[in-house]
Amino acid sequence: MIIVDTFVNMIPKNAAAAFATGDILQIIFFTIFLAILSSTIGRDSETLTNTIHGIDRIMQKGIMAIMVIAPYAIFMLVTAIFMDLGFAALKALGKYAAAVLVGLFIHGFVTLPILVLIMGRYNPYRLFKALSPALMTAWSTASSAATLPVTMSNLENRAGVEGRIGNFVLPLGATINMDGTALYESVAVIFIAQILGIELTIGMQVVIFITASLAAIGAAAIPGAGLVTMGIVLTAAGLPLDGIGLILAIDRILDQFRTAINVWGDATAAIVIGHSENAIHEV
Ligand code: ASP
Repeated sequence: MIIVDTFVNMIPKNAAAAFATGDILQIIFFTIFLAILSSTIGRDSETLTNTIHGIDRIMQKGIMAIMVIAPYAIFMLVTAIFMDLGFAALKALGKYAAAVLVGLFIHGFVTLPILVLIMGRYNPYRLFKALSPALMTAWSTASSAATLPVTMSNLENRAGVEGRIGNFVLPLGATINMDGTALYESVAVIFIAQILGIELTIGMQVVIFITASLAAIGAAAIPGAGLVTMGIVLTAAGLPLDGIGLILAIDRILDQFRTAINVWGDATAAIVIGHSENAIHEV
């Protein structure tokens, strides 16, 4: 069972191997375990905490430095894709892209703002403005992980949510909370089935919906990760894996939009938790 497997595979057999292969769920599991243990040894854990804090700061600085050239690099990447394909080839995929974008739009501008308003008691427009640098970074890098330092700083310094909330919710969210990716994978798999002339029963559509959500949890917060984990969904729905080739051409552009929604979803979660913890202040 894919659900059981996902949970069982979260427990690393070898923590070093999890870090070496970048298995994010295993790393998170190990980290939480390590944190719980180190919280039981009092001041003896200070050296480890300070070291990890230092490494974290260095990583954030490093990502920020790389990001300086990211917009130019991405411009060249997208231009190269367009030059390769020509605009006519993109037309065939137009409806599929429109379906993904409309879905993301509804989720980003209707569903999540309602949650921000009702469960977070926060003005969604204000949050949107505060998070705009992070959303633009997410859009241009197509990576929730690369955007993380910007999201954390925006949430704390521009939206007024205490750092302790963002420090916990955002890294976890960037890893497992991918609303945009789950939505995109469902639409993409249904599109592939339609192109291949395969009729999907309601039962199969429910399987797609559940496995797409799980596949999104498993996707890394880097460009194109959703495309890779979509294999899980295609297999579960009994569709051929090479169907992925059909949507490869425009994945980069859709990735940019779904990543922005992923980050927006993480910020929504942080606001909801921030409200429940009474950790939101005026800025
Ligand atoms: N690029 C996305 C992210 O970093 C993951 C995906 O490919 O859907 O959030």
